[in-house]
Amino acid sequence: MRILVVEDDPDLNRQLVSALADAGYVVDKAMDGEEGCYLGETEPYDAVVLDLGLPVLDGVSVLEKWRRAGKKMPVLILTARDRWSDKVAGFDAGADDYVAKPFHMEEVLARVRALLRRSAGHATSELTCGPMVLDTKSARVTVNGTAIKLTSLEFRLLAYLMHHGGKVVSRTELVEHLYDQDFDRDSNTIEVFVGRLRKKLGVDVLHTIRGMGYCVSEPDNAN
Ligand code: CA
Repeated sequence: MRILVVEDDPDLNRQLVSALADAGYVVDKAMDGEEGCYLGETEPYDAVVLDLGLPVLDGVSVLEKWRRAGKKMPVLILTARDRWSDKVAGFDAGADDYVAKPFHMEEVLARVRALLRRSAGHATSELTCGPMVLDTKSARVTVNGTAIKLTSLEFRLLAYLMHHGGKVVSRTELVEHLYDQDFDRDSNTIEVFVGRLRKKLGVDVLHTIRGMGYCVSEPDNAN
């Protein structure tokens, strides 16, 4: 899952980026509205944390531009406390949720989790596929109740596929959502990670669809 943080306060930007990265997301950041707007238009994000008070281009204008351009990723806006008119303007521009400043980082993380889950059509924080359960809250994976130890990249890969459970995800899409913009991307490494992940899980839930990509589905539905 790849997240964009647009926040001009350097400390807050850093805190948001590190908390989201610690939670297992790939995070890109922008310090002003213009840069944020550009990234949101050109890179595929699974969710965005967008401050409304931004230099160069304000957050509401950024959001309006994205929605006009047909960008549908869930957006969590950060608003100043007691500025109810900001919240209204944000929702009218296409925001999905908001957090008022100052906030507890845990709340931002919980709201981002909920947005990601809902946009993928899941109602709870636990995603299940046959004997495998991925808890998006604790970032834990179990198979038949036994915890599986995964690296952060393996977890991101599995979480992305689980959020899109049943659908075939191409290698290119995976690369775009698993690495940040500065990463030297090589889609061949995905195959290596999938192989390792399959071995660790030990159950047949991670399928390669030849020429198309990968898909998580229950063992019975294996291709
Ligand atoms: Ca600001």
